[in-house]
Amino acid sequence: MKKVIIIGSGLGGLSTALRLADKGHKVTILEKHSTPGGRLNVIQQDGFRFDMGPSFMSMTFELDELFNSVNEKVPIELEELDPLYQVFFEGQSKPRLIYKDLQKLEKEFEDIEPGLAKKAEEYLAKASQFFHDTEDKVVKSNFESKLSYILKLSRVPLKHIPYLMRNMWSEVDKKFDSLEVKIIFSLVAFFLGATPFQTPAIYSLLNYTEMKYNGYWRVKGGMYKLVEEMMKLLEKRGVEIHYNTEIVGYANTNGTVAEMIDQNGKRWSADLFVSNSDAASFRGKILGRESYSEKKLDKMHWTLAPFTIYLGVKGKLDKIMHHNYFLGNNFKAYADKIFTSSISPQKPYYYVNALSKSDPTSAPEGHENLFILCPVPDLRFKKDWSDREELVQNIIDDLSARTGFDISENIVTKKVLDPQDWADMLNLYKGSGLGLAHDINQVGAFRPKNKDEHFNNLYYVGASTTPGTGLPMVIISSKLVTERIENDLA
Ligand SMILES: Cc1cc2nc3c(=O)[nH]c(=O)nc-3n(C[C@H](O)[C@H](O)[C@H](O)COP(=O)(O)OP(=O)(O)OC[C@H]3O[C@@H](n4cnc5c(N)ncnc54)[C@H](O)[C@@H]3O)c2cc1C
Repeated sequence: MKKVIIIGSGLGGLSTALRLADKGHKVTILEKHSTPGGRLNVIQQDGFRFDMGPSFMSMTFELDELFNSVNEKVPIELEELDPLYQVFFEGQSKPRLIYKDLQKLEKEFEDIEPGLAKKAEEYLAKASQFFHDTEDKVVKSNFESKLSYILKLSRVPLKHIPYLMRNMWSEVDKKFDSLEVKIIFSLVAFFLGATPFQTPAIYSLLNYTEMKYNGYWRVKGGMYKLVEEMMKLLEKRGVEIHYNTEIVGYANTNGTVAEMIDQNGKRWSADLFVSNSDAASFRGKILGRESYSEKKLDKMHWTLAPFTIYLGVKGKLDKIMHHNYFLGNNFKAYADKIFTSSISPQKPYYYVNALSKSDPTSAPEGHENLFILCPVPDLRFKKDWSDREELVQNIIDDLSARTGFDISENIVTKKVLDPQDWADMLNLYKGSGLGLAHDINQVGAFRPKNKDEHFNNLYYVGASTTPGTGLPMVIISSKLVTERIENDLA
């Protein structure tokens, strides 16, 4: 039995705690924030309950894997989204519904993309082959070195090589004719926190997981239910958690971390440490590693920052459903310019989640609960968000016009989080929402490793280490780091 300290209680930290506690280790979690969950969190205000970050999940079989591995039943109920979502294109009278059922999808786009089902079937077949050819070899593997990673990659069938050379947009551009369908198939890039013009084509595998393999699911009672249920399982296994405890330094002896030091100077000792704090910025800020200095971190490619608005509204917005995108009519120009600009968007593109459509307990009767997410430049590009009310009002006015509902007049409660808030609250580097981006040179053995380069008892879990970002990926990350720890201890 080892004494383990986990720094951070995001889904990555909680999943690792569960796996390690189940193996008999004595686990303590230290969390900077006042509640567990990290980005998977909740905001309760004036009778409304908002999911703070994630609003849906894909690849839910990773939840089965996690809970089966600790001999527990999945403690939450999942509900599939059908349709997956709807997209409002600027200037079009009605939104387009996005179905997993390709025949229904074809009907939805029959006026602009004849034969869509066959084209989508071919596109998804290719993405499916890539997913299954790489899932175990690349995504779910620990790598000892760059060489071992390249050797593993060399076992991936050669037919996939062109995927590595292209971006996602060029892949959809080859397959589909209408701009709208191209945009819809490329939206998954934003779930990776980047635009389709930067995201490698390999990530069309996400189209396969959304449309064929598993779909999108929400958690009954709100996403935070997952955290609440995990906390019960952790308590049952004797895991301790300390909130408002931020690790700011460390003490080491001969290649081993002896203690982590919090903001009050308190020293926390353990046999093993797992950082769920960002794997790149922790190495720079806390460990003082030159290869992760601010200058070097700033040169890395980070995912887009979130600008989020939580609105409790009196009345019902009939035109929206659980999951809605509101897009303008200059997709490429917007994607190319906005995210590296210091000016906030005048005609923003944004996502709206209305939890009250599927979960009446999230808002008082006769009210709507709206979570609005607008991807924006991170703090490297736009440092000052004192003008944020202007963006809030732009979005509210646009949403009101496109839904035919006067939101401004009916706001009961409102909260806004800009990139600086996200950065301060959870130590997200420069407010980047999903951590390090997934460029070819920032994945696999090129992503910060889940074992420290210098200290033999320091490990990492979460979005900026392997395999990557998103709820299912950080669950896989917890499996990988647990395997590494167990191998090291064997
Ligand atoms: C707005 C938004 C919407 C999203 N929507 C979705 C979605 O719909 N579906 C999906 O799958 N994914 C979504 N994601 C991504 C998903 O939330 C993340 O990939 C995932 O939650 C990351 O988990 P994590 O464990 O790596 O890190 P985090 O959740 O960031 O947890 C890290 C924890 O460590 C703590 N910490 C950091 N530094 C220290 C320190 N020095 N000392 C002590 N504690 C520290 C932080 O406070 C935090 O609690 C979204 C993200 C955002 C921001």
